[in-house]
Amino acid sequence: MTLPVEAVQALTALLGDRLSTSQADRDHHAGTEAHHAPAPPDAVVWPLSNQEVAETVRICRAHGLPVIGHGAGTSLEGNTCATRGGVCVDLSRMNAILAVRPDDLDCTVQAGVTREELNTFLRDTGLFFPIDPGANASLGGMAATRASGTNAVRYGTMRENTLSLTVVTPDGEIVKTARRARKSSAGYDLTNLFVGSEGTLGLITEVTLKLYGRPEAVRAAVCTFPDPASASRTAIEAIQIGLPIARVEYLDAGCIRAVNEYSALQEAEADTLFVEFHGSEAGVEEQVALFGEIAEGHGGSNFRWADREEDRNRLWKARHNGYPATVNQRAGARGWATDVCVPLSALPDCISHAKELLAGCPVPASIMGHVGDGNFHVVFAIDPNNSEELEMVAKVNSAMVAKALEHDGTCTGEHGVGIGKRKYMQAEHGPALALMRAIKTALDPAGLMNPDKILPPMEDAAQ
Ligand SMILES: Cc1cc2nc3c(=O)[nH]c(=O)nc-3n(C[C@H](O)[C@H](O)[C@H](O)COP(=O)(O)OP(=O)(O)OC[C@H]3O[C@@H](n4cnc5c(N)ncnc54)[C@H](O)[C@@H]3O)c2cc1C
Repeated sequence: MTLPVEAVQALTALLGDRLSTSQADRDHHAGTEAHHAPAPPDAVVWPLSNQEVAETVRICRAHGLPVIGHGAGTSLEGNTCATRGGVCVDLSRMNAILAVRPDDLDCTVQAGVTREELNTFLRDTGLFFPIDPGANASLGGMAATRASGTNAVRYGTMRENTLSLTVVTPDGEIVKTARRARKSSAGYDLTNLFVGSEGTLGLITEVTLKLYGRPEAVRAAVCTFPDPASASRTAIEAIQIGLPIARVEYLDAGCIRAVNEYSALQEAEADTLFVEFHGSEAGVEEQVALFGEIAEGHGGSNFRWADREEDRNRLWKARHNGYPATVNQRAGARGWATDVCVPLSALPDCISHAKELLAGCPVPASIMGHVGDGNFHVVFAIDPNNSEELEMVAKVNSAMVAKALEHDGTCTGEHGVGIGKRKYMQAEHGPALALMRAIKTALDPAGLMNPDKILPPMEDAAQ
């Protein structure tokens, strides 16, 4: 699609040089963080205000142009691919922190603020925002994908931490989804309709989030296990007895090898848990002792504690780098991350099943996971131009999803559906998928908001 001249004129009158049709800007917004084929938009715009976003959407609507929201572009399922061209609305310059309210433990930010920018801003307030996908994503993008990360086991995901949103609807109206009250029974939950909607129902321009006081004491540790099941059973038992563990992450031996190389660590190449506890000094001591007992009961050993902040930061940075560390093992490779999430008790079975599927895998592959939530990833370093490899990984992914669904789990715990997981939506949701389609049609009858995402084509759904 090329943009109609009238649309370019209207957008230029609104945004001036904050509209670009250059090949470089279009390629940069083509959705290529992972293995999906690049799909550049026809133009990219960088609005600065709610009103500019609303007017942009109205112009696109008048000309029948697709609108693709864009935060930091770190999503992994082709979520920002402009499969039908159109206008990419890059919200990264809407990066003001609008209000921090320590007494209410909340804040309001423009959608383009990144999670690291928010935490840097909060540093001297004694508060922090816990949701931490491995990348420095935008808070608008994180809301749009219902993101989470290593802290979700204690603090929840974007679903639990978003109090309210300002959104621009497909009609170009500016709407606030809720007030700031911690709870409300006033009508449909519009906030959580937009959280996880991946830009298919509207654009998020402002996000109101919960904040937390920094814990008095923090201790992190690494310990190894004889096999993946022992590691995951340790995490599950800790949660089942009510241990308020803040983070519990599993890395298999292949992942440890990759992060050792990438982050200059020297961890033993074994099935490993990275854990962290938050609380008072006495509370943390108690949690640590209890966790140690549970881990030893499952064959855990080689405990190494990290008490200094810089040591903990190094550890968690290495964990967050599990994805690039794996991809980096192979020159020219791209990442493909699976993302199943299952009820806790099913986790050992699902991880063991994934291990079996990976036996003899010809490409570098690591397993890493937020095991306290029942969510884990296999990250493959693949050649995106090699159709055999793509087919092989697609088969493994489908087998993992089938297993997760058998256990009443989901095909995606946190990365969103994008293009990549649409084919599992019918199996996962059954008749509820029709309800999702009805919502999409009611809000966006022309189908212009981030087309081809989340909902599979009707012909696939019929199968
Ligand atoms: C190394 C690495 C590690 C990662 N680890 C994790 C992890 O642990 N947990 C996790 O959840 N994710 C993880 N991710 C995936 C990614 O960081 C998240 O999906 C993140 O939430 C995307 O945010 P973003 O700002 O980059 O959004 P983008 O990639 O720009 O967009 C994501 C989706 O949201 C839409 N969108 C973006 N902004 C808006 C807006 N303002 N309004 C409406 N729609 C919008 C886009 O159209 C797209 O559909 C990881 C990615 C990488 C590269």
